[in-house]
Amino acid sequence: EAARTPYLTHRWTAAPLLACEASPAAAVPVQNPALPADQPGTVAPASAEDVNAALEAAQPWKASPAERGEILNKAADLYEDNFGMLFALLAREAGKSQLDAVAELREAVDFLRYYGANAPSDAPAGLFTCISPWNFPLAIFSGQISAALAAGNAVLAKPAEQTPLIAYEAIKLLHAAGVPRTALQLLPGAGDVGAMLTSDPRVDGVAFTGSTETAWKIRSAMADNLAPGAPLLAETGGLNAMIVDSTALPEQAVTAIIESAFQSAGQRCSALRCLYVQEDIADGLIEMLTGAMKELHVGNPWELRTDSGPVIDATAQAGIAAHIAQADAEGRVMFQMEVPQTGTFIAPTLIKVNSIADLEREIFGPVLHVATFKSNELDEVINTINATGYGLTFGLQTRIDDRVQHVSDTIHAGNIYVNRNQIGAIVGSQPFGGEGLSGTGPKAGGPNYLARFAAPDAQT
Ligand code: ADP
Repeated sequence: EAARTPYLTHRWTAAPLLACEASPAAAVPVQNPALPADQPGTVAPASAEDVNAALEAAQPWKASPAERGEILNKAADLYEDNFGMLFALLAREAGKSQLDAVAELREAVDFLRYYGANAPSDAPAGLFTCISPWNFPLAIFSGQISAALAAGNAVLAKPAEQTPLIAYEAIKLLHAAGVPRTALQLLPGAGDVGAMLTSDPRVDGVAFTGSTETAWKIRSAMADNLAPGAPLLAETGGLNAMIVDSTALPEQAVTAIIESAFQSAGQRCSALRCLYVQEDIADGLIEMLTGAMKELHVGNPWELRTDSGPVIDATAQAGIAAHIAQADAEGRVMFQMEVPQTGTFIAPTLIKVNSIADLEREIFGPVLHVATFKSNELDEVINTINATGYGLTFGLQTRIDDRVQHVSDTIHAGNIYVNRNQIGAIVGSQPFGGEGLSGTGPKAGGPNYLARFAAPDAQT
C-alpha cells in the first residue's frame, strides 16, 4: 500500500487546557497504525505537577441540570459539525475503518444527548476521574465524561496514551459548547498518569474502561487512598462466545461471525473470541467462513473498501502474533488471511481450540478460536463459558425457540445477541455492560448509570 497522506494535518499545539500546557519539547509523536510514515500529531504527557495543578483547579459544574443538558446537547451539535475532523482522526490515530468511524461518532453524539437530556438534580460526587481506552477513543471517552458532567461533577479526563489527539479535539468542542474549563480538564499520558488520578484523596469517584487487571489496580488504589464508598464504575474485558447449532441459518451465522470477530480488527470488548459450532455442521460452516474471510479487505482504514484496519500498535501486534505463532507450532491454525506488510496489521486467523477454557485471557485482535460440540453437550458448553468468569457478550444462532429461552436463562452475559451479529448497543434503550470479570455495572447508556455519579449519600 502506498503511503498517502490524508487531507488533515493535525498538530497538537501546546494545549491551552489549564493544567496540560506542557512544553512542546517534551512532546512525543502519535503514530498512525496503518501508515508508518504518518504521524498525525504530537502529545506532551501530563507531569505530576500538571496533575496536581488540575486537581487544585477543578471545580464542580455549578449550572442547573437544564443548563448542563443544553450545553452537552450543544457539544453534540459541534461534534456533528466537526464530523470530518473527528472522522479523520478516528482513521489516522485509531485505525478505524470508515464504517466503524461513522458508528463511533454516532454513539458519542448519542451519549452526549442522552446524558444531557437526563441530567440529574442530585448533588454531584464532586471530582470524577475518567480513564478511557483507545478502542473507542471518542465514544467511550465522551460517554464517561458526559455522564460525569451531566451529574455536575468536575472531570479530569485521561485518554489512552495511543489516542490523545481525538480526546484533545473532543475536549475543545466541549469547552466551545460552554463546559467551564475548571469543570473539564484533559490530562494526557500513560498508566502512571492514570495511577496518580486514581490514588489522590481529592478524587471522589472513577469511571474506567480498559483491562480487568487495570481495574483491579484502580480498585485497590482507591481503597487505599480515597474516601470509603467512592464509586468505581468499571467496564472491562470479555471472553465472548457464540454458539451455532445445527438448525442455524448458515449464511446468517457466517455474516454474524465475520462481523463480530473481525470488524475493528477484533478490538472491541464485545468481539467474538470463541465460536462453538455443533459438530455435524462444523466442516461446512468453517468452509463457508473461510470463503467469506477471503472476501474481506484488510488495509488502510482511510480507503472506502476497507472492512478492517490494523491493530493499535506494535506492542499489541507482537502479543497477538506470539499467540498465533504458538497455535501454529501446535498445528492449530485452521486458516489465516493475507494482509499488508507495513503498518501494525494482524491477519484475521482461525485457531482450533478444545474449549474456551483453553484461553487464559482475551486476545484483543482479529483472532477467532473455534471449538465444536455434540448435540448432547450444550449445557456443558454453557457451563464452560460461564466458568471463565467473564460475562460481557454472548451470541446464539439457532432456529429452536425453546433453546433461545433456555440459553438466555443460563448464560451469564450482560448483552445477549440472537441470530444477528454480536455488536453494539443503543444508548438509552439497549445499554451496554457486563458481569463478573467484565465490569461493575450499571450498564453505560442506561438509566442507572448516571445515578452513580452522584454524591454517595444520594445513591441508594
Ligand atoms: P488496554 O488493554 O485497553 O490498553 P489498559 O487497562 O491497559 O487497557 O488501559 C486502559 C486505560 O487505563 C488507559 O487509559 C491506560 O493508560 C490506563 N491505565 C493503565 N494503567 C493504569 C493504572 N495503573 N491506573 C490507572 N489507569 C491506568
